[in-house]
Amino acid sequence: MRSLPFLLLSFLLLSLSLPVKAAAVWLDQNFHSLTPRMEYVQDAAGEREWQDFSQWGWQPVASSPPQFGYTQSAYWFRFDLRGDPEAVSHAWIEISYPILDEIDVYLIGENGALLDSVKTGDIFPFSTRVLAHENFLIPLEKVLDGAATVVIRVRTESSMEVPVSVLENITLIERSQANSWIHGAFFGAIIMLGFYHILIFLAAGDRGFLYFAGLTTVMGLIQATLWGSSYHYLWPGLPAWNEYSISVLINMSNFFGIMYVSTVVQIRERSVFLARLFNAMAVVSLGLIALSFILPYQEMIRITLIAALVTLVMGAFIVLLRMYDRYLPAYAVFAASVMYTLGSVAYILGKLEVIPNSLLLDNALVIGQLVQAVLFGFALSLRITVERNLREEAQRESAVAQDLLLETERAQNQRLDREVRSRTRQLEEANVRLQQMSATDALTGLYNRRQFDETLDRQFELARRQGTELSVLVIDLDHFKSLNDTYGHAVGDDVLKQTAARLQTVLKRPSDRAFRYGGEEFVVLLPDSGTTAARIVAKQIWSAIRGEAMMAGNQSLRVTVSIGIATEKPGADSEVATLFQRADVQLYRAKEQGRDRICVD
Ligand code: GH3
Ligand code: MG
Ligand code: MG
Repeated sequence: MRSLPFLLLSFLLLSLSLPVKAAAVWLDQNFHSLTPRMEYVQDAAGEREWQDFSQWGWQPVASSPPQFGYTQSAYWFRFDLRGDPEAVSHAWIEISYPILDEIDVYLIGENGALLDSVKTGDIFPFSTRVLAHENFLIPLEKVLDGAATVVIRVRTESSMEVPVSVLENITLIERSQANSWIHGAFFGAIIMLGFYHILIFLAAGDRGFLYFAGLTTVMGLIQATLWGSSYHYLWPGLPAWNEYSISVLINMSNFFGIMYVSTVVQIRERSVFLARLFNAMAVVSLGLIALSFILPYQEMIRITLIAALVTLVMGAFIVLLRMYDRYLPAYAVFAASVMYTLGSVAYILGKLEVIPNSLLLDNALVIGQLVQAVLFGFALSLRITVERNLREEAQRESAVAQDLLLETERAQNQRLDREVRSRTRQLEEANVRLQQMSATDALTGLYNRRQFDETLDRQFELARRQGTELSVLVIDLDHFKSLNDTYGHAVGDDVLKQTAARLQTVLKRPSDRAFRYGGEEFVVLLPDSGTTAARIVAKQIWSAIRGEAMMAGNQSLRVTVSIGIATEKPGADSEVATLFQRADVQLYRAKEQGRDRICVD
């Protein structure tokens, strides 16, 4: 029974085999083992009197220590003491199971007379003990001739487990010394672990640490109670509380254990259903704590042990499941359980004398428990690290995703930018083409009438500002109507194109410019050119067109032009329209005079 709460997360099988063996010190080379010589009698009604002991059917005790489980019966034990009178009178009988309720010890002399009797047990206040010691100790000082029959009656609500030894004063002192040292170290470690993790809980706010602190502290208290230390130091005047403290403590450890495990292996991450199941079990444990104050101990302890077993199986299941999930803290919890199990095995092997017993082996159980507690704490820290790593990884991933998003956005913007620029360029090109199209004449490629008007205005203004002369040539093909009529419009068009090309070849200066004014009429603007220059250019044009026949539609055609020239150096009140009209008048003059000539204003 005693090891079950500690085995919360250990292997099921071992934990089930432990309660039978895990008694306090029973076999030790320093003690006399009495089991082989001990006999017992069951007293179901509990009404027998010690005086009749010699008439009962005594049976040899089979197990070491004697164990009869939970029972309402009283049990009687007897053995004979024989030894050196001096040694015997300085020895003690020790019953090292501190939670037995009522113990009556009768020391009977060889003549059947009662030498001494002692009444003890944990239902009596601690102060009534002959020796203030965690175990029950009965002095043999009244056994003066070294021989006595010892008759012991035990009645208890706890399990009937009666480890009896006889030991000398000196051994008692030595052993008490060693035990108090070990117990002190154990409790010191437990208290430190408990307090420390409560502080971590306060600092970090993680409830896992609180459950761990609770679990560790309660486990320490259970050990203290089984050792008799809590009755000795914590509640010596409270035998009633001592009675149900064990079942209260075990249920508390179930509660903390369940909460600790569900936190440390993060059950909720695995399954919400299992998390609910664990919460329900925690509530049941709390209920059982309350029930411990109401139900009789023997009924309660049965329920409590079943609950502890269920808790243990649930814990083992979830830890194995989480190990299967490769959840790191679950491995630490598993390792903790293994350490405790190893401690238990070492303890049992020591008790069975498979390996030589020693103080270390004697306390292997407690050492295993401490190592387990430390590893439980480690599992908790490991969980925090694992969770932090997960969180950091998520953060890193989100940062990467954000970078990617930014990068995509940037790329998209760049593409958009390129697109816009390319479209803009296309639009600009289209605009230029459109402008050119609106500025030029489709047939000849020369600038059109509109361009001429604008250019004339501009050049006229420029000439006015710069004080230069501007000349205008108006050129008209002769008898073009009849050429059209004779050879058709297509040939006429061809002639117009060739005339324009010849015009262009004559113009050398970049500022000189030819325009198609309309129909078969052309205009040439010669900025910064006087009459003489205009006359020369007109002559060149006239020659260029009439000098060579034009090939159009398989026809060799001789074409002539008439040209009117006007020149002006614009003054303050000069008007641009007049200049063109003057040139046009000269063209009419040339036509009138018989065509194929140049007239100058
Ligand atoms: P002149 O100037 O010598 O007095 O006689 P003309 O026959 O050239 O006189 P007019 O100005 O009456 O005739 C102009 C003709 O030019 C009218 C039209 O048939 C022709 N013409 C005008 N524009 C075009 C054109 O773009 N293509 C063609 N093929 N013919 C055109
Ligand atoms: Mg004409
Ligand atoms: Mg004309």
